[in-house]
Amino acid sequence: MEISLNSQRVSQLDTLRRTLLASGGAFLYSLVILVCYFLGYVLIEVEKLVLLFTCFWSGHIASVVFVYRRHRQNINAPSMTLVHMIWAIIFVSITLYHTVEIRSALMMAYLTILPFGAFRLKWRGFFGVTLFTLASYAVALFFIQQTRSGFWSPQVEVIIGVTFLLAMMGYCILGREFSMMRERLTQSNQQLTAALIKIEELAITDELTGIYNRRHLLDRLDKQRAIANREGSSFVLAFIDLDKFKSINDQFGHCIGDDVLRQFSDLLRESIREVDLVARYGGEEFVLLLNGVGIETAAIVVERIRSAVEGLRFSDENLAMTISVGITEYLAPETAKETLERADKLLYKAKQDGRNRVVQDLVAGKLETID
Ligand code: GH3
Ligand code: MG
Ligand code: MG
Repeated sequence: MEISLNSQRVSQLDTLRRTLLASGGAFLYSLVILVCYFLGYVLIEVEKLVLLFTCFWSGHIASVVFVYRRHRQNINAPSMTLVHMIWAIIFVSITLYHTVEIRSALMMAYLTILPFGAFRLKWRGFFGVTLFTLASYAVALFFIQQTRSGFWSPQVEVIIGVTFLLAMMGYCILGREFSMMRERLTQSNQQLTAALIKIEELAITDELTGIYNRRHLLDRLDKQRAIANREGSSFVLAFIDLDKFKSINDQFGHCIGDDVLRQFSDLLRESIREVDLVARYGGEEFVLLLNGVGIETAAIVVERIRSAVEGLRFSDENLAMTISVGITEYLAPETAKETLERADKLLYKAKQDGRNRVVQDLVAGKLETID
């Protein structure tokens, strides 16, 4: 989950960077148009030029602000690439209509806009934008021919037009290749992310019972200890061992033994809250991590589990079974391993005292037994 959130964040940052790059390009293009205007290559009234620039830049800035806010709020809103591109293509086509002699040089702007689509658009969208570029150029040409026939040379226009068309076709083919490559990359990224999540899950899960394994327990204990030290809180550990489990294996076989372990794990899982954790420490030993409760409350919870186990019958063989438990509270600033060792010693005491019991230390050093 964390992995996919990260990749979403990276993709948002990429979009933001590309939007800023496109804005830089648009700014340079606007500068070129201004210089051309003062040199007399752009024939337009100053009011119209101001209006054109105002329209283009207010639209562009509004969409950049939209992308930036979406990035700040971490929202996955629809892409603005297509809108940006169409907006820029219209702007270029209008300026082209007003230019004389330098038109073919300014047409380069189209070729700068199109590659931005290759990052975001599917190839059909990319193809559509290319067609739109050709169509806007054709419209600009039409108006030039209608209103400025003095600057119109059919032979030159055909040469420029055919070269432009070929360039656009080249872009389309490359855009399609790029887009397909990107889609394949996205797909394999998704598969990789899913595989990583699965591996992460397997690495912390006990194969037989499906509950957490010892590795995850030790990780969580270290984290829990850090939280407890920081916040001055505590937690309780319960070390559980199934009594005389070997005899179940010996009498009924390992398969039945495995069934018992699974059924017992399910019981533990159902007995705890979301904030707690249950792990198989190894063999027929389990550990409960109980958060936000004192040892007295934890003892009541664990005693309830012990009593439930005693009353239940396990596997298809209806086997009676009991557990012994040692419970202790984390005492800052000891290590989690030390807490675990203390719980293990208390469990040993429960076994020595005759099994089927919970042994706790209310205060460090003072032991109490619940039968
Ligand atoms: P005690 O009351 O002193 O704990 O006696 P016990 O028989 O439970 O303890 P012991 O340590 O002698 O035996 C534990 C047994 O647990 C031995 C082993 O065969 C069994 N065991 C460990 N892991 C598994 C497992 O994954 N499946 C099965 N079926 N048995 C397991
Ligand atoms: Mg045992
Ligand atoms: Mg054991």
